[in-house]
Order: sequence, then C-alpha cells, then structure tokens
Amino acid sequence: MTSQASGLALAPWAAHDDRSRGRVYPEPPVRSRSEFQRDRDRIIHCAAFRRLMYKTQVFVNYEGDMYRTRLTHSLEVSQIGRSVAVALGLNEHLTEAICLAHDLGHTPFGHAGQNALNDCMKDYGGFEHNLQSLRVVDKLEEKYAEFPGLNLCFETREGILKHCSRRNAAELGELGERFLNRQQPGLEAQLANLADEIAYNNHDIDDGLRAGMIGVEQLSELDIFNTCYQEVVDRYPELNERKVIHETVRRMINYVVCDLIENTGKEIDRVSPASIDDVRRHEKTIVGMSEGVRKAHRDLKRFLRQTLYSHERVKRMTDQADHIMRSLFSCYMSRPEILSERLGPAAGDPAEENRVRAVADYIAGMTDRFAMREYERLIEPGDDR
Ligand code: MG
Repeated sequence: MTSQASGLALAPWAAHDDRSRGRVYPEPPVRSRSEFQRDRDRIIHCAAFRRLMYKTQVFVNYEGDMYRTRLTHSLEVSQIGRSVAVALGLNEHLTEAICLAHDLGHTPFGHAGQNALNDCMKDYGGFEHNLQSLRVVDKLEEKYAEFPGLNLCFETREGILKHCSRRNAAELGELGERFLNRQQPGLEAQLANLADEIAYNNHDIDDGLRAGMIGVEQLSELDIFNTCYQEVVDRYPELNERKVIHETVRRMINYVVCDLIENTGKEIDRVSPASIDDVRRHEKTIVGMSEGVRKAHRDLKRFLRQTLYSHERVKRMTDQADHIMRSLFSCYMSRPEILSERLGPAAGDPAEENRVRAVADYIAGMTDRFAMREYERLIEPGDDR
C-alpha cells in the first residue's frame, strides 16, 4: 500500500499513481512529487486557471466583490473533495487536481454564456463546457516545449470529463471508452463530481441571501435549511443575522459531507473493490449520499432553480450575456482578420470546422470583463457600461 504525502494510507480502491494509465506523452517520474501532485501543480500554474478569477459562477464580476467567482468555487470544491478523499483513503492529490480543473472550460457569464456559444456552434459540433475543460488541458494550454496542453495523467483527464455524448466519446479513444461501455470513472472522479454539487448548492444559498434575492422564510420550506437554521437560532439566540446564515450554511455542508463519507464508506464495504479497475467495472457509481440526504439535496437544487437562477436580476444578466456572446461570435466569423493576429495559424486553417472551433476556443477562454471590453471595442464603441 502506497502512502499519501499527508501520511494517511491510500486504500486499494484508490487511484495509485504508480499504477496510473499514464500520460499521452510519456515523461520520466520526478523524485520530489507524485504524478498527481504534478498534475495539480500544472493546473494551478496554467492561464485558464487564473482566468477563473474573473468568470461568473452565478453573479457577474461587476455585481460585487463578495460573491463567488469560478475560481473561489473551484477552491471550495477542492476543499470539500480533499476532506472526503482523505476520510475514505482516496487519493487526495488526484481529487484536488480534478476539482481544481473541473471548470477550466467554462465560458464567460456562466451557463448563459455556454448556452449562447453552444447555439452559435450548432452547425459545427456544438459547445460543451465540460468537454472544453478537457480540451484546455489536452490542447489549448501553451506551457510546454515538448507537447501541447498540460499532458495530464489518464486518471485526472478521466475525472475532468464528467459526461460526454456517444458521438464525442467515439473520438476520444481510451478516455471515451467508459461512455460507450457504460463503465464508471475512479472514485476520485466520482467524488469531485459530488463535491462540485455540494459546493455550489450551499454557496449559492449564501450568495443568494447576501444579494437579497432569496430570503430566510422562503428557504425555511427546505428541511435541510430549516433544521440547521433552527439549531443555530435555538442555541445562539443573540447571534447577528450574518453569523446565523454562515453558521447555518456551514452546518448544511457539514451535514451533507458527513453523510457522504458514511454512506460511501458503507457502499465501498459492500462492493469491496480490490482496485480502481473494479470500481470502473462496477455497474453504478459508488460515491454517494444516503437516499434521504440525496433527496434533500435535490430539493435544494430545485429551490435554487426556481428562485435564484430564474431571478429577474440573473435573467437580466443572462440576456445581456447572450447578446454579447452572439455578437462577438458573428463579429469574429464575419471579420476573421481581427483574430488572425491573436490566433496565429488556427485562424487561417483551410478547414472551416477548425477555423470556427478556434473562434469558439477564443471566446470560451475570455473572462467576463474581457468579453465586455471586446464587445465595447468592436461592436458598440462609446457605450460606457
Ligand atoms: Mg463547478
């Protein structure tokens, strides 16, 4: 049994880097860091990771400095993922790498941006942020002399690619096989997926309350919120409102995370996989919450969809984002000379499909504020939004 840098034993069902399926371009190991530590470090140092700082999670950057951005979201996902990984004997470094990279392919303006770009790309294979995250680490990052992208290990890439159509899977070789054979990814990948949901469900409640777009009375219809909230106000009747909210959200995350650890531990015992390949061959995912908590989490998600994500203020942002994304796309398509300087050979690729994909890659890589500046410069000069 190999051990992690944190000193905790790595379970047989975890991803062991000495048994990794390796990198596309083989590289000699280094003595000071494990392979998954190297992957995490490459992600942190890449340009797409830095740009997450100015990309919308739910609130556009100009709405205020207190809200989550895609960068702080990714850090929260990573914190939750790592805690659970260590508790279950999973590979902490791999979990961290996947969590930090999971949103690298997001467009500016959150889901509104992705939907607009997907629609613009409908005749050219569409646009999907999850697949784009893989494209960023496999192809788009320009960091190394000897290979394109970051040349990450198979297990990290497997975790980044959460979902994939059969058509796209067929083009991804070994990495796409699980979508065609209906197999599962390793436990670290399964965990990163749930850590993402736990993080955004809870921090969107916190941000939504802060913005005054949802209220405590509305939230009280949710059992999980109500239970934690009542515990806090009963125990600390003098506490100010802000601390009550923080303490409540903190308890909600803790409640779900503890359930996830306990329930997954039981499921691992029941399935008793001898290796990551047993995990991959198992008929369904092993990492998960108990039925009751899963339902509470679904209710939370539905609540956020019906209140926060469809709130007038978010909708206004969505409409504006949609307009900016479509305008930029058609501008670059009709005036390719604008991009030829920035994109290099890709802008002049004889295959139309490749030229259009280069435009989508360029727009997807933008931060919110860069997209807005570019829109003002090219499409509405003089508009001082
Ligand atoms: Mg996410």
